[in-house]
Amino acid sequence: MLNPYQFISTKKEGSAHKSGDIKKFVNACLENKIESSQLSAWLMAVCFKGMSKRELNEYVNAIINSGNQLDFSYLNGYVVDKHSTGGVGDKVSLIVGPILAACNCYVPMIVGRSLAHTGGTLDKLESIKGYQGEISINQFKKNVKENGISIIGQNKNICPADKYIYSIRDITATIESLPLICASIISKKKAEGINGLILDIKVGNGAFMKTLEQAQELGKALSSLGKDLSIESKYIITDMNQPLGTSSGPWCEVKESIDFLKNKTKDSRLKSVVYKICTIALKMAGRKDIKYLIDNSIESGKAYEVFDKMVHSHRGDINKSFKINLPKHKLILKAEKNGYINKIDTEKLGYTLLEIGGGRKTSLDKIDPTCGLYIRKKINQKVEINEPIIEIFGSNKSKIEIAKKMLNNTISICDKERNKENKIIYE
Ligand code: URA
Repeated sequence: MLNPYQFISTKKEGSAHKSGDIKKFVNACLENKIESSQLSAWLMAVCFKGMSKRELNEYVNAIINSGNQLDFSYLNGYVVDKHSTGGVGDKVSLIVGPILAACNCYVPMIVGRSLAHTGGTLDKLESIKGYQGEISINQFKKNVKENGISIIGQNKNICPADKYIYSIRDITATIESLPLICASIISKKKAEGINGLILDIKVGNGAFMKTLEQAQELGKALSSLGKDLSIESKYIITDMNQPLGTSSGPWCEVKESIDFLKNKTKDSRLKSVVYKICTIALKMAGRKDIKYLIDNSIESGKAYEVFDKMVHSHRGDINKSFKINLPKHKLILKAEKNGYINKIDTEKLGYTLLEIGGGRKTSLDKIDPTCGLYIRKKINQKVEINEPIIEIFGSNKSKIEIAKKMLNNTISICDKERNKENKIIYE
């Protein structure tokens, strides 16, 4: 039997754990043989002392083996997923998933809820009336086989050790640790049974990674751990110094994704990220004429058809959602002077959205599916005094009023167009 006191001390002193000890510790946590205070002490020690590659591999395998690992090798197609480190207005999963499935890939996608100021794909999907994000593993497998894609939340059968450890990290300031983040993300991806993974590392004032160096470090660490687990893994770094696309909020982002898939409107920055991820995934899948495949999946209506079928198989009703998700209140933030949009405090926009019901301050908070922000002006765009810059909407009037005040000083306007490059993909 592992002595938890000695185990914690080993990490605290910066020594290496004996082979097999991390596995025993993770298993003992799940069997309630380790107190949560002991787990949090160990997690804090990892935050300060890190993990060696051997320790990280043992830790990630212990998490994977705490639950089921799916196997899609019987399917005749490449099994692929993407992961984003989170941002504001990042609806890329809702668009990329159906496009890849329309191009004959299989996409078993396990997604998260909103975290701090960033939106969560599951909360967005649940703004669709009836959408069930928590289904059995057998139903998940069936949906992937029949529709090419299924998007669900973390299930008690998939990496239960991560679910438990994450809940402790969340309240003990132990989220920000490279090995803990990598193990948490990659374990769930490995359990999905995928062949390939594209990691979209967000960088900028609306991302968790504020500098390119931090983003590169995370991208390298995640893709290296993915490769160690035999997942073909590639990362890209994309900009989060302004929201992605024109909307941010649960239902309004689903609507923007539907418009994209129906070939109606395509924000150019959103399009760049979607096409980049799809291109990498389809290359991994050994496909040729990739731009044509992506264009065709949208223009032929196939990608939207896949999305519609997927939602249907999760008992969601898109038509009804259009009718019921109508916000009752709207306020508009207007330009205070003529000029050019110079800077957007994207993290503050994310927290403003959280305030009106787009995220949670406590686990008991309810999401307001109708709420959101329309971002009418982006960086480097010309504005005239009193022109709308941001629309704030939702069903709670007083929250919308608070939110409008929160938006003061989030957008800076300067006299001249910024000559700095306004990049969307860094690498
Ligand atoms: N997302 C996860 O799933 N885990 C982390 O540790 C951080 C973000």
